[in-house]
Amino acid sequence: MSDLTAALEEGSTPGLVCAHHHLYSALARGMPPPPHIPADFRDVLEMVWWRLDRALDLEMIEWSAKLAALEALEAGCTAIIDHHESPNAIDGSLTVIADACAEVGVRVNTCYGITDRNGPDGARRGLAENDRFLAAGGRGMVGIHAAFTCSDDSLAAAAELAENHGVGVHVHVAEGVDDAEAVSRLEELSRDNWLLVHGVHLPDDHGLRGTIVHNPRSNMNNAVGYARPSRFSNRVALGTDGIGADMLEEFRVAFVAARAVDVTASPDTAWSWLKQGWDLFPEARGDRVTWSYKPIDPWHLAYTPTVRAIDVETDGDYVVRGGVATRVDADEVRAKAREQAERLFAALR
Ligand SMILES: [Zn+2]
Repeated sequence: MSDLTAALEEGSTPGLVCAHHHLYSALARGMPPPPHIPADFRDVLEMVWWRLDRALDLEMIEWSAKLAALEALEAGCTAIIDHHESPNAIDGSLTVIADACAEVGVRVNTCYGITDRNGPDGARRGLAENDRFLAAGGRGMVGIHAAFTCSDDSLAAAAELAENHGVGVHVHVAEGVDDAEAVSRLEELSRDNWLLVHGVHLPDDHGLRGTIVHNPRSNMNNAVGYARPSRFSNRVALGTDGIGADMLEEFRVAFVAARAVDVTASPDTAWSWLKQGWDLFPEARGDRVTWSYKPIDPWHLAYTPTVRAIDVETDGDYVVRGGVATRVDADEVRAKAREQAERLFAALR
């Protein structure tokens, strides 16, 4: 029996990885309603997320990241691949996020999602923030919001910057029908180290290179359709798209979403997507999470919705002990995040 198999039998795993998160979205819950109920995915972006991201300042970003990082650790997720946007607080934002995660004890790979939807200067400043952060030794990628909000020049500039830094591009691809042209716009640019997030409306044999990141709960929440990730020849990983970082929960949702269209679907497939996170964030393999249930087995977990992380160790240190975060005061983080959420909501009214 391998070490990993023995650990799973005894109810422990390496740290789980969230392959696509938006740490800035942790304050959004309970936000004031938009002027009308969004009727489609484009409406959701314009009336919820693009309203919210324009109102963010660095202090809100800091506490949003701390709250999201705390909730990740409490769910046994020790490594997050983050995609950030804050059009009116770009400069320095990635360092704020990296520092917030370090304080809580979570590993993070972040990037700034460039876009031309706020004018060409916005894309330029977004690129500059990616460049600044990576040049200073930050752990990250180069972010693109999505092809449908970027010019061809911006897409090419982001791909070139990533190449220069030896990292991949982290980009939303064909999440909604608005982005169906992503394939033709990205096919010459994509590389094996890219993260292609969602891929709901990609053709089966799309030809893009990179890892597809499946976010089943978010896709249901936005009614964009089921991505059917099993159809792709690309590697597939699991993300949450900003709805927390409870990766066992996301695994269960991934399984039941597959099962909803195919009763023969096995949880082993969704489990393989979760495990793919360790190739994207190898340090998490050295982290250790002790769970409230054993064995850690896909068929058990698929039907056991209450499994909790008891202890979490990174670099030989407990960052969660007995279900409680050790490096920060969880009550204080929640209270400060609540204050910042009130500031954010006031800016939206
Ligand atoms: Zn996303």
